[in-house]
Amino acid sequence: MTLRYAIIGNPVAHSKSPEIHAAFAAQTGIDLRYDRLLAPPDGFRAAVEEFRAHGGRGANVTLPFKLDAFAYATEVSNRAHDAGAVNTLTFDSTRVFGDNTDGVGLVKDMRDNLKCAIAGTRILMVGAGGAARGVIGPLLAEGPAVIAVANRTFSKAEEIVQRYRPVGNIIVIALADLLGHQFDIVINATAASLENDLPVIPRRAFAEGSLAYDMMYGKGLTPFLALGRQAGASVADGLGMLVEQAAESFLIWHGIRPNTETVYRQLRLFAPLN
Ligand code: NDP
Repeated sequence: MTLRYAIIGNPVAHSKSPEIHAAFAAQTGIDLRYDRLLAPPDGFRAAVEEFRAHGGRGANVTLPFKLDAFAYATEVSNRAHDAGAVNTLTFDSTRVFGDNTDGVGLVKDMRDNLKCAIAGTRILMVGAGGAARGVIGPLLAEGPAVIAVANRTFSKAEEIVQRYRPVGNIIVIALADLLGHQFDIVINATAASLENDLPVIPRRAFAEGSLAYDMMYGKGLTPFLALGRQAGASVADGLGMLVEQAAESFLIWHGIRPNTETVYRQLRLFAPLN
């Protein structure tokens, strides 16, 4: 029987998750179908219930629904609990298990694929939505010197910092106060690049030899990455993170961690960075 999975979001048309899960399925011989589901902004729960009623076994969740997915789950993993956000749901007849694979995906991409050491670095995280929540715990576990969180809506950055303060050295900073501070890794965890927009970051925030990492993927050199490149930083988009977090979701659903390298290379052919 073909197993049914989906990615639920708004927007969702840009998502590459269906192609990735299809490639993993071909690699591992698992019979599955993986669709894109566009849910209205206030219609997450209804969309999931309908999908489950039609035999859905699990779902990935993207913006803006990761907090709704957390609320919907009846049980969550420790990492999803810490984040207060869920990107992977697994259904059985009565229970909904929520997990968060974004952090593993980002850390694996930075540390193992990009060979970027995280320990001891100064990290600036711009954005405080579901994606930022999911990655901060696993980043702190790598032992950076500090993570500074900045966001357009300051209160949301404050909330994340309060959540993670017991775990490591994390501070909140206003976007307007970034001038005069430098970082080794600057992560754009905002949705700004979706609209070709740019969070307000001074060029001098990028320290010499720094990495500019945009979680967005498939948009080429986004305004954020262009700024990082102008500032002398090396640049990376979120394609590697996407493939790694998908592999972790695949592991949760099917008990096998697929090979990510070939899938990443295939996708990169159609999504060059410059
Ligand atoms: P959310 O909707 O939960 O959060 C959006 C965040 O972006 C908020 O911090 C919001 O600020 C900020 N924002 C939106 N528009 C702008 C703008 N024009 N200028 C400045 N800030 C802005 O989204 P997610 O956290 O789920 O996703 C964020 C991004 O990360 C998306 O681009 C998504 O595609 C990407 N992503 C990539 C993944 C990957 O595997 N590569 C995995 C997960 C996410 P405010 O609070 O003020 O509204």
